Amino acid sequence: MMGHTHALTGAVAWLALAPALASLPYLSESTRLIEMGVMADALTPAELIAGALICAGAAMLPDLDHPSATIAQTFGPLTWALSKVVAWITGGHRGATHSLVFAVAVGIGAHLLANRYPLGRDILVVLMVGLALRAIGIGIPGKKFASAMVNIALTVGLFAVFRSYEVGYAWLGLAIGIGSFIHVVGDCCTEKGCPVLWPLRQRWVLPYKIGIKTGRAFEQKFLAPVLSVAIVGLLYLRLAPL
Ligand SMILES: [Zn+2]
Repeated sequence: MMGHTHALTGAVAWLALAPALASLPYLSESTRLIEMGVMADALTPAELIAGALICAGAAMLPDLDHPSATIAQTFGPLTWALSKVVAWITGGHRGATHSLVFAVAVGIGAHLLANRYPLGRDILVVLMVGLALRAIGIGIPGKKFASAMVNIALTVGLFAVFRSYEVGYAWLGLAIGIGSFIHVVGDCCTEKGCPVLWPLRQRWVLPYKIGIKTGRAFEQKFLAPVLSVAIVGLLYLRLAPL
């Protein structure tokens, strides 16, 4: 699947699951819980949007095993070199990073990092938001440097907005884990499938033999618009006053 399709499914997954996630007790920081009194309101609108962006960015992570994927091209030679290393360790494209184990591992890793090191948490948030913006193609067509500047400016701007709305990141690990796993689910809908239960080698293709071909008309002309509309619809559903 293409980078932007993965990013869109990440945002959809977060927005769809948000009410259920918000009721998980450990997502709500205790102080806010006392202030608001209601567990189900533990995710503020700003957190809902921040989470959707972070989940979208994390939905790019498994393709770090592919040097020509969107994510590997995002931060220049740095991500390209990183993707070469990841591809070498995991045995090439659609190996270990396209599994449940990877999603759980990055989720737990991000959660521990976020809890212990505020700076590490902030860097992670900025990276994920930057990735999400890059994936949906925000920038100036044909102008790499200018696009990078637009991306950086927008990412930093969003981060500042989140901070001004006092976004808490107790859910950061969960968003990153869900984003990574929804990528795997997405790739399972393509012809090649994924080794979901890695290290077992069996490849999963869902639903049986639908086999979306990456980058073809179906993905670009149907799936991407449908997912975009789903995001707008879910945002309305979650944020519009009843
Ligand atoms: Zn993939």
